[in-house]
Amino acid sequence: MSELASPPLDALYPTLAVTSQNPRLRKQPLILIVDDDPVLRDVLQLTLEDEGFTVASAEDGAQGLARFASVRPDAVITDANMPVMDGFALCEALRTLPAARFVPIMMLTAANDAVSIRRAFTAGATDFATKPLQEELVGHRLRYLLQASQSMLELARSEARLANAQRIGRIGSWELEVDSDVATVSDEVCRLIGIEPAQRPHTGLEFLGYVHPEDRAMARAWAGRSVREGRQAGLEYRVLRPDGGVRHAYLHAEIVKDATGLTTHMTGIIQDITERKEAEERIRYLAMHDGLTGLPNRRHCAEQLEATLARAARSGKSVAVMIIGLDGFKRINEAHGNGVGDALLRAIGERLKRGMRQGDHVARDAKAIPGLESIARLGSDTFTVTLTELERAEDAAGVAARIQQAIADPCPIGDRAVFITASIGIAAYPADGGTPQDLLKNAESAMHVAKMHGHNGLRFFAAGMNAGATRKLLLANAMRTGVGTDQFRLVYQPQVEAGSGRIFGAEALMRWNHPEIGAISPAEFIPLAEELGLITRLGEWAMQSACTAARAWQDGGAGPLCIAVNVSPKQFREPGFAAMVARVLATTGLEPRCLELEVTEGVMVGDTKDAIATMQALRQLGVQLAIDDFGTGYSSLSYLKQFPIQRLKIDQSFVRELDRDTRSGAIAHAVIVLGHALGLRVIAEGVETAVHAARLRELGCDELQGYLIAKPLPPQEFAAMVAADWRLAA
Ligand code: C2E
Ligand code: MG
Ligand code: MG
Repeated sequence: MSELASPPLDALYPTLAVTSQNPRLRKQPLILIVDDDPVLRDVLQLTLEDEGFTVASAEDGAQGLARFASVRPDAVITDANMPVMDGFALCEALRTLPAARFVPIMMLTAANDAVSIRRAFTAGATDFATKPLQEELVGHRLRYLLQASQSMLELARSEARLANAQRIGRIGSWELEVDSDVATVSDEVCRLIGIEPAQRPHTGLEFLGYVHPEDRAMARAWAGRSVREGRQAGLEYRVLRPDGGVRHAYLHAEIVKDATGLTTHMTGIIQDITERKEAEERIRYLAMHDGLTGLPNRRHCAEQLEATLARAARSGKSVAVMIIGLDGFKRINEAHGNGVGDALLRAIGERLKRGMRQGDHVARDAKAIPGLESIARLGSDTFTVTLTELERAEDAAGVAARIQQAIADPCPIGDRAVFITASIGIAAYPADGGTPQDLLKNAESAMHVAKMHGHNGLRFFAAGMNAGATRKLLLANAMRTGVGTDQFRLVYQPQVEAGSGRIFGAEALMRWNHPEIGAISPAEFIPLAEELGLITRLGEWAMQSACTAARAWQDGGAGPLCIAVNVSPKQFREPGFAAMVARVLATTGLEPRCLELEVTEGVMVGDTKDAIATMQALRQLGVQLAIDDFGTGYSSLSYLKQFPIQRLKIDQSFVRELDRDTRSGAIAHAVIVLGHALGLRVIAEGVETAVHAARLRELGCDELQGYLIAKPLPPQEFAAMVAADWRLAA
């Protein structure tokens, strides 16, 4: 395409203030005659008007220029020699005006004045006529000139439109002669490859120089194939610009063949598709990543896992898929709003990501996370971690513990510290599944089982875990008929004073033993009872039984033994709850100060005014209140001051860590210090070893409960321990 081919569009479509002067709207062509000879002007005017032209005239070049601007003629006839401004100067001046660019100019010269004729063309004249003039011929020549100029104008417009469309669409055109390798490319192609039109490539080889080196071999092979096969084809490749910038291009080629069927030319377009490519990339990224944490999402994770498993199949190593479920995340959202929940998820995502790097929190040393392969966020409160290169799948347990520890670290959000724990399920390849779907599903089942057994749990997948859903249905039916029967019993776990080691009370814990299903953990059936609306009945029964038992022990000479009863948040929020407690105390005759109610931080969810009112009513009765599992549910400690409680129970996950890690010891310590500062007693649950007990005593913990003292016991066994004045050794 020639440089001339793309004049600016406004030159081709001049806008005029007065539309009647717009040449495109005129019926008769308007001719401007410029001559200093009035006789010639008049004769010519009459002749042309006779032939259907409209005529305007001027006496010299300067006047002619002014007239041109005001009347916008379709053609100009000018004398070469005139005073003031001659015809050559006028011609040159007109050609600088965009509006006169395609207007034919006929120059009148003396006959045989070859020099003037050459000058006329150099100045931009379209044609010449010699004097003396044959007026009757001028009309014919004008008509021909007008037609030719109209065609040129149309062509120029059409080319300009094409160039414009190419520029807007970022489409360039090109042509290649196969034999000679001669190439022609349009301006837009130059723009795409980042060069000036003057530097345009003239051969296919030169053009190939602008293809990104990594795509060059592919592009060359593509071109060869297209020529050989003689079929139209498309190619996407990258352009490497001289300034180092990279663009994406789409090249389409049509094939031109000769009579023998041989490909002689290729011609086509090139389109700049960088924006589309970038949008595609972005969409692909968004489709594969979680917007909140930036971690890969479930889909991406499944793809990565697919590749990981293929590699493991070749190497013969095992892969562990870990599902990490945050414990009670929903309650954090409910209590503090989604903003805090989101911030917590982001922070946990960061902690997991940091674990990818060496020497960090999760991976404290380079070998801490052997073969950590990928991390992803699967759902609102679940993450997954894949480990490879494991000699034994069990090695994953150590990693899981580190991850749990990293998550359990208090997370500062705004002006508060949010605490959360995670339960982890692990499925191993190839033992627990051969596909990403199976492994993820099984690890998830294991995670659910881990959750059922309390916070901060860890479970490897075991056959049968998938029966989860059917089991729930089975349990729901069993529970509806079992509540109120002797399938439900209470067991009692002794609590001792840390200093003397003496038993001062017990926590009543519910047991459900179904004749066919067997023993079912309260961690599984209590949430189910809540869901089924059976918790009120069940809780009332537990309260009644526990108080009856305590009163009986006291009557049997056990002294002022205390009984702690767990209350689910759902039951606690029932309007008649305090009245029910009063009734139970009245009917059993148990002293109110001997009854302690254990509530979790979950009762602070929602309307705290109601919770406080209920607590105050219970305090009026003289009942004691304790916060169970302290440190796992909530964040802010501010509620502690508002609630009339007497005791904090340090969650067993913090106790369990005591012999392993000094930082978690720090949490237990902080809870003790905090409790004491608020005038509360602090009891530790889950005390399993002498080390735990020694550390807790050292930290000033008031009371202890756990397997080290005794597992939850049937009432007679507990009574026997008390009667024997059992003591925990110092
Ligand atoms: P919880 O109130 O935090 O009870 C402590 C749990 O820790 C009990 O599990 C107990 O058996 C267990 N435990 C005690 N010492 C140790 C120890 O040294 N090591 C270990 N690993 N565990 C120890 P359990 O009986 O399975 O109860 C689980 C949860 O079920 C309880 O947690 C409580 O939230 C709920 N629950 C149990 N009974 C009742 C009830 O009567 N009413 C309500 N609403 N919830 C109950
Ligand atoms: Mg409890
Ligand atoms: Mg507890």
